Amino acid sequence: MNLIEHFIDGKIVSGSSDRKGKVFNPATGQQESEVRLASKSDLDLAVEKAKKAYESWSIKPPLQRARIIFKFKEVIEKNFDELAKLIVSEHGKVFEDAKGSLTRGLEVVEFACGIPQMLKGDFTENVGTNIDSWSIRQPLGVCAGITPFNFPAMVPMWMFPMAIACGNTFILKPSEKDPSCPLRLAELFKEAGLPDGVFNIVNGDKEVVDAILENKDIPAVSFVGSTPIAKYIYENGAKNEKRVQALGGAKNHCVVMPDCDLDQAVNGLMGAAYGSAGERCMAQSVAVAVGNIGDELVNQISKKLETLKVGPGMDKSSEMGPLVTKEHLEKVRGYVDLGVKEGAKLIVDGRDIKLQGYENGYYIGGCLFDEVTKDMRIYKEEIFGPVLSVVRVKDFDEAVKLINDHEFGNGTSVYTRDGDVGRTFASKIKIGLVGINIPIPVPVAYHSFGGWKRSLFGDQHMHGPEGVRFYTKLKTITSRWPSGVRTNPEFIMPIMK
Ligand code: NAD
Repeated sequence: MNLIEHFIDGKIVSGSSDRKGKVFNPATGQQESEVRLASKSDLDLAVEKAKKAYESWSIKPPLQRARIIFKFKEVIEKNFDELAKLIVSEHGKVFEDAKGSLTRGLEVVEFACGIPQMLKGDFTENVGTNIDSWSIRQPLGVCAGITPFNFPAMVPMWMFPMAIACGNTFILKPSEKDPSCPLRLAELFKEAGLPDGVFNIVNGDKEVVDAILENKDIPAVSFVGSTPIAKYIYENGAKNEKRVQALGGAKNHCVVMPDCDLDQAVNGLMGAAYGSAGERCMAQSVAVAVGNIGDELVNQISKKLETLKVGPGMDKSSEMGPLVTKEHLEKVRGYVDLGVKEGAKLIVDGRDIKLQGYENGYYIGGCLFDEVTKDMRIYKEEIFGPVLSVVRVKDFDEAVKLINDHEFGNGTSVYTRDGDVGRTFASKIKIGLVGINIPIPVPVAYHSFGGWKRSLFGDQHMHGPEGVRFYTKLKTITSRWPSGVRTNPEFIMPIMK
C-alpha cells in the first residue's frame, strides 16, 4: 500500500504519528493509498524548519524570489499531465477538467512572478519640511493553509505561491482525501530551486488543524472548506491572535431571464451544475427561472441530461466523473431522497446509475429538481453534488431578493440580453463573485477570489492584490535628516504649519 507522508524542510518525513487515513480511487472504489495523519509534534517540527528558513527567505530580494517562482512555473508545465492524473486518481474529476483547474492554479504562480512590482511601496517627499514618509509591505512569518478536497492543486495554489512570493514561509495542510498532488507540487517547487523549509506539507485531520490554530509561531491562516469549519477556523484563529481568511461553502444561483439566449443559458448551466460532478464551490446549484421561462428551461436541461456521459475521469469520453468518496455519494443521494420527501419534483433521477466494470465507483448521474421552494432543505443547504434545483419566481426583483436572503454569498450569475437588468443585478446583488452571461464567474489570478456572507469569514479575498495584502503587513516610516538645525521639545501633536 502506497503511504503518503509529510514534506518538511525539503524532504519526505514520516512523522511521529501512527494514525493513517485511507485514500481511495473514486472511479473504482479501491483504496490505493494511506496518508499519515500528523500529530502536534510533526507540526512543531515543520514550524521550526519554516521559521529557520524564513530568516533568509524573507530578506531575499523579491526579484530573486520571483526567479525561483518562474522556474516553478516551468517545472509545473513540464509535469502537467502527471499532476492532472494525480488529481483524477484521488478526486475523480475528468482529466481535462483536472487540467483546467491546474491551469487556474498555474495562473496564480504566473501572477506571483510579478511580485517585485507588487511589493513596491509608496513614497512621499516632504510630508513636512525636509521630512519624507514611505510605506512598505513586509512578510508575516510562517503562514499556514488548510484546503478542501475539491481542488487539491488549485486552492493550495491560491495560497502558497502568493505567501512565498511575499517573503513568507508556508505550511500546507491539504485535504486528507486527495493529498498526492499537493505533495508532488512541493517536490517540484524544491526542484525549481526553492530553499528547504520554505514550503512544507503536513498531512492530517482535525488534530493537526487544531495544532496550527494554537501555534503561537503561525501569524496567519488561510482556509478553504465548508462553512462550519471555516467559522471554527476564523473564531479559533482570531482567539489565538492570527489573521485569518476562511472561505466557506456556497449555494450559487443562476438567474435565467425570459429574454435571454436560452441555448447559452442551458449550456452554461449544464457545465456549471454538473461539471466536476457539482463538487465546485462555484457550481450553480440553483437555477432561478424568471417569468414564463421555467417550462422550456426544465425541458431543455432534462433533454441534455439524457446524454450526459458519466464515467471514470481518465476515460476521454466522460463528461462527469464520480464523487470523491462513498460517504459523500451517500450524502448526495440522501439529499435527492430528501428533496422527493420535501415535495420537489424530481424530473431527472441519477441515483441508480450503474457503470459496467466500475460497479464499486462512487457514481451518481445528474439530477434535476423542479418546483423547489425556499423553505426546503435541498434549497437552503449545500449539496455539493450534481443536483440542480429549479426555483420559479415571477420577476427579476423576486430573483434578487431570493439570492440576497440566502445565507451563502459565493457566486451568482444572470442570463439576459438586457443591459439594464445585467447592470442592476451586478450592483444590487449581495454576492462576492458575479457573472453576466458567464456561468462560473471565477476571477482570473490578477483579480481576487472570495464570497460574501457565510461564504467567507475575514476581510481579504484570495490571490491577486488581496492576496498580497493578506500575506504582508504594512509599515510606514517617517524620516528626517537634520543638518545643524536643532529643535526644542514639542508637546502638541505634530501638524503641518
Ligand atoms: P471540509 O470543511 O470538510 O474540509 C476542509 C479542510 O478542513 C480539510 O483540510 C479538512 O481536513 C479540514 N477539516 C475538516 N473537518 C475539520 C474539523 N472538524 N476541524 C478542523 N479541520 C477540519 O471541506 P471539504 O469537504 O474538503 O470541501 C468541500 C467544501 O469546501 C464545500 O463546502 C465547498 O463549498 C467548500 N469550498 C469553498 C471554496 C470557496 O472558495 N469558498 C472553494 C472550494 C471549496
